[in-house]
Amino acid sequence: METDLHKALERGEFVVLYQPQVDLLTGKIMGAEALIRWQHPERGIISPATFIPLAEETSLIMQIGEWVLHTACLQNKAWQDMGLAPMVVSVNLSPRQFLQSDIVNTVRRVLEETGLQPQYLELEITESMTMDVNRTISILQELKGLGVKISLDDFGSGYSSLSYLKKFPIDKLKIDQSFVRDSTTDLNVATIVKTIIEMAHSLNLHVIAEGVETKEHLSFLQYNLCDEVQGYLFSKPLPAKEFEKQFTEIEKI
Ligand code: C2E
Ligand code: CA
Ligand code: CA
Ligand code: CA
Repeated sequence: METDLHKALERGEFVVLYQPQVDLLTGKIMGAEALIRWQHPERGIISPATFIPLAEETSLIMQIGEWVLHTACLQNKAWQDMGLAPMVVSVNLSPRQFLQSDIVNTVRRVLEETGLQPQYLELEITESMTMDVNRTISILQELKGLGVKISLDDFGSGYSSLSYLKKFPIDKLKIDQSFVRDSTTDLNVATIVKTIIEMAHSLNLHVIAEGVETKEHLSFLQYNLCDEVQGYLFSKPLPAKEFEKQFTEIEKI
């Protein structure tokens, strides 16, 4: 698979899907998360959970990561040029991409190349990237200096040091899907989710819940004043064309 991975970029076998992020107050789509897929000629669609860790072991993750960034920014710019309401597209950064590449210059260059205004790009980082606190803070500050938004993905799933939250210049918390899944059946988890939302708001952070699959999840999150939701209840990740078609439909709900 690793040899194939090398050729996949040249052959154009990667695609980016977009999953809507819905504002709970207005019901409008505020953004979309860009999620990569590999359309392998023999094996069919391969999940990022399978090949991203492999790519992460080699420097290939840098090229793949930049390709996703470029594709997502170009797509978002194209949507704006088509007259869709401007939204934020969020792109996942891998640990190696964040810590070892010249991520700040890459992001600056991609914004220039695509013509997307920085406020319409969000970068998702995870707690596993934040082990070197000072370095993380300085990279994040430089990225914020470009005008892009930062979100902390999978919040609660890892080391989750609450003290980081105050130190890191982030805009948004993404509550991990495992918490959302159990929030309606486990009272302790419900309390944790409620507390994460309150704490995030008191730190002036925006909160999004991912993995929202049921109406029960939705009402629980609505009741506890979560800002945004993302999950199969609204839509699976979609190819750009599908996303365009559904975009206006979902917005009317
Ligand atoms: P993630 O960043 O936590 O992304 C959320 C995952 O949850 C996505 O899986 C998404 O399709 C899935 N999901 C969305 N709604 C629901 C739901 O309601 N229920 C459930 N059970 N799952 C839902 P996906 O697309 O397979 O991606 C898996 C992981 O691969 C991502 O987790 C992310 O860590 C990584 N990944 C995906 N695309 C990229 C990329 O472009 N770059 C990097 N570095 N990593 C990526
Ligand atoms: Ca993510
Ligand atoms: Ca996540
Ligand atoms: Ca994850």
